[in-house]
Amino acid sequence: MSVPNVTLNNEVTMPQLGFGVWLMDDAEAAESVVTALRAGYRSVDTAMIYRNEEGTGRALRASGVPRAEVFVTTKVWNTDQGHDPALRAFDASMARLGLDVLDLYLIHWPAPAQDRYVETWRALERLHADGRVRAIGVSNFTVAHLRRLLDETGVVPAVNQIELHPYLAQAELRAFHAEHGIVTEAWAPLGQGKSLLDDPVLRRIGAAHGRSPAQVVLRWHLRLGNVVIPKSVTPSRIAENIDVFDFELTDAEMAEIGALDEGRRLGPDPEVVS
Ligand code: NAD
Repeated sequence: MSVPNVTLNNEVTMPQLGFGVWLMDDAEAAESVVTALRAGYRSVDTAMIYRNEEGTGRALRASGVPRAEVFVTTKVWNTDQGHDPALRAFDASMARLGLDVLDLYLIHWPAPAQDRYVETWRALERLHADGRVRAIGVSNFTVAHLRRLLDETGVVPAVNQIELHPYLAQAELRAFHAEHGIVTEAWAPLGQGKSLLDDPVLRRIGAAHGRSPAQVVLRWHLRLGNVVIPKSVTPSRIAENIDVFDFELTDAEMAEIGALDEGRRLGPDPEVVS
């Protein structure tokens, strides 16, 4: 079964499940992205700071999958915030990726101490107006950061990519996104493969369906409407993580997984990253 799309607030569609490439070098990304595309993934999430845009771009060309069939996301890093720096960072990312048009460009972190994310957002608006990127969004924005963007620019991000997994369910942000038509994209959807995947509740639910804890977690996200971008360099796990479209969790199982939320972050607090 193929991956369903979500429709963004400007009618552009995006696969609900994609492939994350954080912590891969160029060579690993070049290999893993080809493996993922062969396994059926049609969305790839990179960032300038991952330092693998070149390898990702190489894989896109080597895979033989037509460019129009793959949704590519990259992000502007904190040191490139501001209007003109962001425009230059975009050009540099596109040169490394070897692309003319990007699918989604995100502000990687709000970096509130710099106080430049509104200015950066205006640069992204310009890239969108110029047809260089099909959709624009943000990452790691809190409700307060989103409210400020909405108040000062009136342009609603298509996506907010945030840390989100059963131990950090982000109910308040998800509700705000739903109210404003912002798609919730989960980073660390598998809790970075740490203790989450050993959770006894997920193991038991997985056993009941003949599925792994990772597959149960991904199914939970998909049922909530989240976009997910699980990462792996292991071909069997790359295949396992997309093999999640032929089973359903019961309402009781969804509630049990929902009850695991303890507001536990793996990554940093967006207020302090600069
Ligand atoms: P993840 O939750 O996708 O976990 C990845 C890790 O889980 C792997 O390294 C592996 O150790 C393990 N794993 C993967 N599949 C597994 C399986 N089937 N069974 C058991 N273990 C498995 O974590 P992530 O990589 O941090 O997040 C996914 C993507 O989100 C990243 O690659 C990146 O693209 C993006 N991301 C964005 C931000 C941001 O600030 N916007 C931050 C972190 C990650």
